[in-house]
Amino acid sequence: MLREKGALPNQTDVLVFGSGIAGHCAALAAADAGADVLLLEKASQPGGSSAIAGGAFVFSGTDEQESAGQKDSLEALRRDLLQSGKNKNKPELVDRFLKSQLDTYRFLKKFGVKFELHIVPEPGVSRAHVTGTGKAITALHMAVQTEPRITYASRSAGVRLSRSSETGRVDGASAMFGDRETFIRAKSGIVLATGGFSRSRELLQIYAPELADAVKHGGTANTGDGLMMATDLGAGHADLGYVSGSFGGGIRNYPDIQRKAGEIPPLLFSFLEGGIMVNKHGVRFVNEGQSYKALSNIGMAQPEGIGFQIFDDRLMQRSHEDTSVNNYKEAVLAGYIQSGETIGELATLMDIDPIILEDTVASYNRNVAQGLDPQFGREANLVPIDQAPYYIAATGNAITSTYGGITTDGNMAVVDWFGEAIEGLFAAGEIVGGFHGAGYYSASSLSSSATFGQVAGRHAAGHFD
Ligand SMILES: Cc1cc2nc3c(=O)[nH]c(=O)nc-3n(C[C@H](O)[C@H](O)[C@H](O)COP(=O)(O)OP(=O)(O)OC[C@H]3O[C@@H](n4cnc5c(N)ncnc54)[C@H](O)[C@@H]3O)c2cc1C
Repeated sequence: MLREKGALPNQTDVLVFGSGIAGHCAALAAADAGADVLLLEKASQPGGSSAIAGGAFVFSGTDEQESAGQKDSLEALRRDLLQSGKNKNKPELVDRFLKSQLDTYRFLKKFGVKFELHIVPEPGVSRAHVTGTGKAITALHMAVQTEPRITYASRSAGVRLSRSSETGRVDGASAMFGDRETFIRAKSGIVLATGGFSRSRELLQIYAPELADAVKHGGTANTGDGLMMATDLGAGHADLGYVSGSFGGGIRNYPDIQRKAGEIPPLLFSFLEGGIMVNKHGVRFVNEGQSYKALSNIGMAQPEGIGFQIFDDRLMQRSHEDTSVNNYKEAVLAGYIQSGETIGELATLMDIDPIILEDTVASYNRNVAQGLDPQFGREANLVPIDQAPYYIAATGNAITSTYGGITTDGNMAVVDWFGEAIEGLFAAGEIVGGFHGAGYYSASSLSSSATFGQVAGRHAAGHFD
């Protein structure tokens, strides 16, 4: 029931907690460096948020970019990461990402992950490499299952780290296997890759109380266990003050809202592909081309906390079955998106003044024809909304990811409040704070989690570069 192959050892070289993209990459990299690895997952299925994510990875310098004639550079990527993070990003983590991201892209390809470049109109640089929801985890999990050095076990949760009383080094951890607690010795190192805490009402209440009652997405077991385990040993914290929601959580059948017990509405990001967003008054309120995180606070401040996403048939034809946040066709069937032959009809459906909404869309289209958005300065995906039928989705705030957590150095060694490494302990993925800073550069979490996972795994196995 718990382990997928082999007997569960009570000692190993490298112990990895969490089987999202960071944990998978850490385990595979550590095994590649010659270590025996135990990869433990709290949930019954592998993958956490990584298995349900949209599946877009930011990489620079790839074959797909070259084939598409995209001119990119590490300096341009650095600039964009720092701009999104409002320069609060930790330079050592940005440097490490820039140094290792292309190796990680090749590493993922080696294990069968396939990428397709999502092309954005100029002057933007196309960097989001799309894999489809869950595809990268499926490929990596197959590699884990066939790697003789890795033992994987599900329903096995790390609960507490332990330090050698002689050296102070982290030398093991206790974990719950079902309802049995066992101590596992880690001879070389431990990697915490337990993801964020979007599913923990208690931690949200502390770090982002305004989101404690938001609809919770993300890995079902992402309750911040690793954050607490490392904090218990004195790990420092970064970016926890910047936890924000993800604007785009579907609201079914608005205004006659019907919520079923246990319903987790889909996230819809049509505005990142060319849709616009209006409020209950029928007017735009933001540059929709920004990251969904940046939209969160602005969206929450609108009447009823609702943003109505509007798009046309051009975008509906690009609905991706494989990418949850752009699977518009499924959202129509489930009642999260409604349609009409005119913009006025959409307005009536949502109890918005039709004259105002028609005017909003007409004036947006006039400006787009000039390549401008004088109202909000939108540059990304500036396309007209003029092909019937038209679509509208009432959406609100959700919490999918937290992007703040414990501090590490550029080798992914966990460091304490005074900047000293906690020997033997490494971390990667959403549990780590400091990479994203005060914002979020879209599609940079899967790629940084994979990159930092690979680095943490190698270093936990004793191979420093
Ligand atoms: C709907 C959605 C769409 C997204 N789309 C994108 C996107 O397109 N691009 C992008 O870059 N990012 C996206 N993100 C964010 C991204 O998916 C995550 O930030 C990233 O996957 C984090 O990877 P991770 O390995 O750190 O954590 P996870 O993938 O969440 O894995 C953590 C794992 O640790 C396990 N775990 C927790 N506690 C313990 C414990 N005590 N012991 C053992 N295991 C434990 C969890 O069960 C989980 O399996 C999206 C997120 C969501 C929810």
